[in-house]
Amino acid sequence: MTTQALTLVWLRRDLRTFDHTALQTAIRQGRPLAAVFLFDSDILAPLPAHDRRLSFIHQCLSELHRKLAELKIPLYFRHGRADIEIPALAAEIGAKTVICAEDYEPQAIARDTRVAAKLIAADIHFQAVTDQVLLAKSAVMTQQGQPYQVFTPYYKAWLAIANEQYAGWQSRDDWPALHRLQQKLPAALPASPPPPSLSSLGFQTQPLVQAGGETAAQAALGDFLNRLADYPLTRDFPAKRGTSQLSVHLRFGALSIRHLVYLAKQADNEGGALWLKELVWREFFQQLLYHYPDVANNAFRAEYRNLAWQNHPEWLERWQRGQTGYPIIDAAMRALAQTGQMHNRLRMITASFLCKDLLIDWRLGQEWFAAQLLDFDLAANNGNWQWAAGTGCDAQPYFRIFNPITQSYKFDPDGRFIRRHLPEIAHLDHHFIHAPWLGGSNIDRNGYPAPMVDHAVQREKALVLFTDAKLA
Ligand code: FAD
Repeated sequence: MTTQALTLVWLRRDLRTFDHTALQTAIRQGRPLAAVFLFDSDILAPLPAHDRRLSFIHQCLSELHRKLAELKIPLYFRHGRADIEIPALAAEIGAKTVICAEDYEPQAIARDTRVAAKLIAADIHFQAVTDQVLLAKSAVMTQQGQPYQVFTPYYKAWLAIANEQYAGWQSRDDWPALHRLQQKLPAALPASPPPPSLSSLGFQTQPLVQAGGETAAQAALGDFLNRLADYPLTRDFPAKRGTSQLSVHLRFGALSIRHLVYLAKQADNEGGALWLKELVWREFFQQLLYHYPDVANNAFRAEYRNLAWQNHPEWLERWQRGQTGYPIIDAAMRALAQTGQMHNRLRMITASFLCKDLLIDWRLGQEWFAAQLLDFDLAANNGNWQWAAGTGCDAQPYFRIFNPITQSYKFDPDGRFIRRHLPEIAHLDHHFIHAPWLGGSNIDRNGYPAPMVDHAVQREKALVLFTDAKLA
């Protein structure tokens, strides 16, 4: 295509132009550049045609393609295996370097190792930069040089390093301007065609409750910043728009984590501080997965690796379909299936219910969430499932078991969230909406089921399950 040496930026979970580490690093290298997004057949092959995440990614890519074209950076699309397609494109366009952002998932690390080996064999340099997290995988370690396994000391150490490394951030009003991408290199390659259609990739376009792309992400961010001060008061109530709803944009890198940390610090209020803590939980789980990749499929705590889960398939199905008879659980599970979204409080309650009330292995819940969530992220999903199950490194103690009825009264007091998703019992008032069976035969439940298990009985069984495992 060209005789000039080029840099190729391989985009993966960084689908934006603002504060983009790989693109900025490439520009600094001074060579003309091109970008590529691979529809990775290893990732896509197992997904169903109706997977809504493909629609979201497609929206991100369509916008990114347009924005990069304005900067005269062609964005190529390839479909296939990474270790074949990336080296082939690099060779085809005469790239001397391939740059991408580090990814800490075990399969991504294996993929990148294979790609790097192929590139190096072809005399092409492979460079991975830190972009998905503010502080890289091993930037925050204990005094003994070990990864942190408990959040609070990790958070304190993270803050100390971040404050030192990014001193002056809060006062830096020009920070956003500094991080806007400005291509100053000559264009070396012809413009590239837009992304292939979803149908050509074997997927159907799905309706989305959140639009994909950098513009939508920035709009959502702007909206949240107006609500940030209320975050401590509203974040636990699923019927309210209390949280940022930015996880999916972070997942696909339509927002920069550095920018969010900057904004959280700049807010200089309780909302900003609390929100920053959540962003650090995200980094905590990322470093944990990197250092202990085994946790993806095994309990972090050895004593809980052989818990005698009961795993009744029909119970799992009732939980998945939102037919447990516990309204808060069913509303959450039906919302997840319909939209791909679930509020954090509801993720905690439904996860606890699966493990501690239905005595079903957290890995089956993790798998269901992985298939459904628009913001699915292996590190966050796994870390939180292990937290809820009590098997994780810094987990909820096994004997603290959420009561789905009191949680419902507390966090959806007037039943607004439940009513939105359970039409059968939407007519019930706030006395009965959380536990319709308490109204006896006077209450018309329109076929809504009775509770499938007795929470008090199951709670005792869960305690025995865990104490037996500890004693074994
Ligand atoms: P906000 O409250 O606005 O938080 C800001 C950001 O911080 C989030 O966007 C997210 O990136 C991060 N964050 C917040 N809470 C957590 C947390 N507990 N752990 C890690 N990061 C956090 N989050 C995912 O991004 N992907 C998942 O697959 C995922 N699976 C989960 C499974 C279970 C069982 C549970 C209990 C939680 C899970 N979470 C997951 C964490 C959390 O529920 C979501 O990040 C949050 O609901 C996203 O909403 P938000 O953007 O409005 O969050």
